[in-house]
Amino acid sequence: MSDLNLILEKQRTYFKTGSTLDIKERIKKLKKLYQIIDKYEEEISAALKTDLGKCQFESYMSEIGLVKSEITYFIKHGRSFAKKRRVHTPLSQFYSKSYVLPSPFGNTLIISPWNYPFLLSIEPLVDALIAGNTVILKPSEYSPNTSAIIKKIIAETFSPDEVEVVLGDASVATELLNLKFDFIFFTGSQNVGQIVLKSTVNNLIPCVLELGGKSPCIIDKTANLKLAARRIVFGKFLNCGQTCVAPDYLLCQEDIRNEFVTYLKEEVIKQFSPEPLKNKDYGKIISLKHFKRLLNLIDEKKVIIGGSYDEETLKIEPTVLQDVTLEDKVMQEEIFGPILPIITFKTYDEAFDIISKHPTPLAFYIFSNDKKIIDHALSHVSFGGGCVNDVVIHLANSEMGFGGVGTSGMGSYHGKTGFDTFSHLKSIVDKKQIIDLPMRYQPYKSNLFKKLIRTSLH
Ligand code: NAD
Repeated sequence: MSDLNLILEKQRTYFKTGSTLDIKERIKKLKKLYQIIDKYEEEISAALKTDLGKCQFESYMSEIGLVKSEITYFIKHGRSFAKKRRVHTPLSQFYSKSYVLPSPFGNTLIISPWNYPFLLSIEPLVDALIAGNTVILKPSEYSPNTSAIIKKIIAETFSPDEVEVVLGDASVATELLNLKFDFIFFTGSQNVGQIVLKSTVNNLIPCVLELGGKSPCIIDKTANLKLAARRIVFGKFLNCGQTCVAPDYLLCQEDIRNEFVTYLKEEVIKQFSPEPLKNKDYGKIISLKHFKRLLNLIDEKKVIIGGSYDEETLKIEPTVLQDVTLEDKVMQEEIFGPILPIITFKTYDEAFDIISKHPTPLAFYIFSNDKKIIDHALSHVSFGGGCVNDVVIHLANSEMGFGGVGTSGMGSYHGKTGFDTFSHLKSIVDKKQIIDLPMRYQPYKSNLFKKLIRTSLH
């Protein structure tokens, strides 16, 4: 038996003991995890600095703080999520009680990416654990320092029978995907998402795919342009644009394009200084391979802001491209870096047409004060989640699920949605024995049965 299979076998044996079923124990474990994260907070920040150049504030705001908030949320609400959920029982099933019983899937696999390596490893882990599962976690090989501290934290918090972190590249992930897990949670690219999904087919393993895509952001002539520029610059260049929900491209109404660009220029300087490459709080691209891919997307003739880079530090300035067309390289793939193309539109139909030419985005943003058009856009455009007059922040709310749709993913997590995603919801009818209505038994009395069904519908 391979080493990985051995780990899974141990977790399987542990799960069968029923030790993960007690919700009080699950909460106790999360409290311990919180404390150990607290203890290693400096080391986590240092690792994120080495891997992605993230400053301490950003690491807390966009990774450690969000994980802590998710843990706190479950410490508060976990007990109620794990309870039986009573539902209405139709009269035809008299006399019984009906309820939904959340039950853990069992042994789960989580594969995570490098861009928010702490958040995107630990948040699904927390959701899996509060739902009562065991976990094998494989973080990304591109963020090795964060992966190492994650391994240390997990080893200090859990026994390997409950949670084990396995380090390595795609070959390790491939090996893991050959094992028979009860549930797989994957965050990463669409290409690898397809591989993961294929691997689940033979054993019919349920899975969630958190993928990416090109997320559009509309700015129309009714928008507060100055505020829009401020928020877009924050959300796009946070983590150097290496954010799955960053606005990938802007659709800007023609009449206000020039004014909006003026504000964009001001904001880039305000937030990142006139020399962003020297800004210690501005991150870096994860690897030389990713750095070169991004440079290849920049058409120098179209650059109106930024465009400079430093190969030694793997930094690329916040870069804005104007007069971009759908034929440009930058519109052929998910950018996932600090490059922001602007496409102009005259009518909303044009804007929606451009969005519909791309696969379903993970996020959609609209800056507008026209309520009718906002409502129309939100209901007609297909996307995972999004914001009105802001970007990115919808993922930082444990009260709402987060996930994609179509090519940007399937399934969602965070908060109660995460608890439910990692649970099988058993539907139970608890039939009482003091009465046993005769209608369903032969010889049938169809009139009485029909009456009862009708009654229960009204
Ligand atoms: P990736 O798909 O290259 O890698 C993700 C994980 O899959 C890594 O752990 C990697 O080791 C593993 N992997 C790589 N090749 C594999 C294979 N052949 N078989 C099995 N596993 C394999 O993604 P990435 O470059 O780490 O992350 C960037 C992508 O992730 C972007 O597309 C981004 O939009 C997406 N993303 C999505 C979300 C979300 O929440 N929806 C969050 C972050 C990133």
